Amino acid sequence: MREIGGRGQERLLSGALRLVGQGRAQATAAAYLAAGGTEVDATGAPESGFGFDAPCAGSSPSPVGSLGEIPAVFVGPAPWIAIGRVGSSARVVVRLAQGCADCFRAATAPMREGIAPGLASAAGAVAALAGQRALLGLAEALEVVDIGADGQLAPGQPDRCEAHR
Ligand SMILES: [Zn+2]
Repeated sequence: MREIGGRGQERLLSGALRLVGQGRAQATAAAYLAAGGTEVDATGAPESGFGFDAPCAGSSPSPVGSLGEIPAVFVGPAPWIAIGRVGSSARVVVRLAQGCADCFRAATAPMREGIAPGLASAAGAVAALAGQRALLGLAEALEVVDIGADGQLAPGQPDRCEAHR
């Protein structure tokens, strides 16, 4: 992966994400992340076995973020990556450690389970890319991407917490 470089590759390999929900989009995200070398902890997810096993990094990666399809519960270290449905669209919300947890909650509040089957793969791929961006330090503190019913990606316009409105 020449574009990412050695150091970036190390970051992808040293980061880890725990699956905190379940669903097709989350499984897709986990498969992409694992295929890219990120350790994915599926012990808390009912559906494991997503096709690719991440290489064993040897030392335990840190910190372990969370990736989940709504209704997932996000606690502990960032990054937090949520995938869910808003109306007929899908939404991916990413929060880095410096991002506001209350803004994350505001952005994810309208999200529901039941992403349209035709959008699940796209939503999962976006979530995986978002996770890699977060691990590489390329993401904003809080990022929201909406995937329209037609598959078009657009920056989301989420609600913010009271302090950041
Ligand atoms: Zn906030």
